[in-house]
Amino acid sequence: MKFNLQEEQLIIKPYKSQTDVYVREQHGFYQKIRRSLNWCLMLLFIAMPYVQYNNQQAVLLDVVKQEFRIFNMTFWPQDFILLAGIFIVAAFALFFVTTWLGRVWCGYACPQTVWTLLFVWVEHRIEGTRNQRMALDKAPWTLTKATKKTFKHLIWQLMSIFTATTFLSYFVPFSELYSTMLTLEWSRAVTLWVLLFAISTYINAGWMREHVCIHLCPYSRFQSAMFDKNTSMVSYDAKRGENRGPRKRKDDIKETGLGDCVDCNLCVDVCPAGIDIRNGMQYECINCGLCIDACDQTMEKFNYPKGLISYSNESQQAGKKSKRFDLKLSAYGALTLVSILLLALWIENRVPLDVSIIRDRTALYRVNFEGIVENTYTLKILNKTQVALHFNIDVKGLNVPDIRLPKQRLVAPGIMQEIPITLAIDGELLARKKTEFSFIIQSIEQPDMLIEQSTSFFTD
Ligand code: SF4
Ligand code: SF4
Repeated sequence: MKFNLQEEQLIIKPYKSQTDVYVREQHGFYQKIRRSLNWCLMLLFIAMPYVQYNNQQAVLLDVVKQEFRIFNMTFWPQDFILLAGIFIVAAFALFFVTTWLGRVWCGYACPQTVWTLLFVWVEHRIEGTRNQRMALDKAPWTLTKATKKTFKHLIWQLMSIFTATTFLSYFVPFSELYSTMLTLEWSRAVTLWVLLFAISTYINAGWMREHVCIHLCPYSRFQSAMFDKNTSMVSYDAKRGENRGPRKRKDDIKETGLGDCVDCNLCVDVCPAGIDIRNGMQYECINCGLCIDACDQTMEKFNYPKGLISYSNESQQAGKKSKRFDLKLSAYGALTLVSILLLALWIENRVPLDVSIIRDRTALYRVNFEGIVENTYTLKILNKTQVALHFNIDVKGLNVPDIRLPKQRLVAPGIMQEIPITLAIDGELLARKKTEFSFIIQSIEQPDMLIEQSTSFFTD
């Protein structure tokens, strides 16, 4: 069979430059999923900073105080392992999803795609359909054109500022951020960050769009390393579609010798990456399924079976049985589950208390006028919860009577309290010159919060 592939287009111009791409609005099964997911993600992003927990912002990554609050948990720079754990989980999850479903993250959930979709939606409402937008861009400048363009960019800029302010409210308490905004009292740092994020959003979603995916995003470059013959990707069934060509609905394709592709070009018109999927799989494809919906719509009109363009994999295209959960995918799945489990276990067993003991650096020990040996320590207690707690201080391993210890201490949330302690012991009672022992710090209100820290007592 001779395929009517447009080699010239494939080699010379594998995708149109962004300035040529006028995305046609498309509805259909996959777009319903995509748009619903996009709305949910966007609403989640906007609403999350307003969610309160214990009269505080539930999710706040306070960079200034170096305190990351997520509902009832507060993390500190000492909990850096959490960040590493989240990255490991995200990496394995990404490997798993990409091996299984290709670039679905890009097509359905990536913020770049979500915001581009929103910006294009606004453009469509103001400047009209694809053909109207093309005509408007070609037309000479008139008051109508200038008004439409100005209005569009104004809305885009307002959306960008809103996005940037919302994003910043994950890092600065929203009550503080908005109250200082209304009174024009934003600090220089806040103003700069909002401007930076707003400009990035405006340029990325309004102007660069899929250029970001194609040229800037590193993921698009290395994703193919994760693909295998069973990875689900949007592909065109060339055997069924070729030879492509226009025809009337009543035409008998057996007589005309044509394949099922009616060459309506809709799959190209709707593609946000500006590619023609009929030229084969291309790395610019973000697996969004827009071309599937467009083609299915055409197939329906011509009374042909749907699925000329569909999510399929190399094995299926070669007529072989697709074995999806093979060793590679199962291994990625297992690693994702194990890393999630380990992270959950770490969070569950984490004691929200940090204790460090610093010995007096000027002298190992002192002997007072009564002949009693003194060792001095500084206890640093960091209460990592969100409430003030009393802590009891005890020692273990010094079998001598009458050790004087400080009374219970109240430590405010997020505060590192320093407590100087001098242990005075009759040196005769200790068998060795250096005795290992432990300080035990335990919360009165939450007895599970207990930390045992070892140190030494010197007598000589
Ligand atoms: S080829 Fe199809 S799936 Fe790929 S980016 Fe274009 S419209 Fe989306
Ligand atoms: S939408 Fe379908 S029928 Fe139309 S050109 Fe694309 S592949 Fe061919």
